[in-house]
Amino acid sequence: MTEPSIFTRIRNGEIPGEIVAQTDRVFAIRDINPQAPLHVLVIPRTEQYRDVTELAAGDPALMAEMVALASRIATDHADGQYRLIFNNGARAGQSVFHVHAHVLANIEESKLVGL
Ligand code: AMP
Repeated sequence: MTEPSIFTRIRNGEIPGEIVAQTDRVFAIRDINPQAPLHVLVIPRTEQYRDVTELAAGDPALMAEMVALASRIATDHADGQYRLIFNNGARAGQSVFHVHAHVLANIEESKLVGL
């Protein structure tokens, strides 16, 4: 059996982390290394999908639920405007292979490139 991902371990309370919002199928935590004043990760509870390509093919409704939660967080914690970033593959910057979206908000205009 594979080990639970770091995100699942945070959700289960096995390692520290701040859960900022959740639904039946999706939860959100603050990124430990924030790249913007608001930097939250939106994550499906299931570890079934490694990246957004698999997620979009396998369960588009779950992906839509992630976007809806991202939007709610951006409204609750910022002005409602946000960047939504999925890194796909190690060479694209992905380090955790339990699909997740980076929600970035309150970004300075000069820092709009990169993550
Ligand atoms: P990615 O590189 O797209 O796979 O994103 C993984 C993200 O998880 C990075 O932005 C990390 O800063 C973040 N991360 C890693 N460990 C933790 C943790 N214990 N708590 C919160 N965020 C974390």
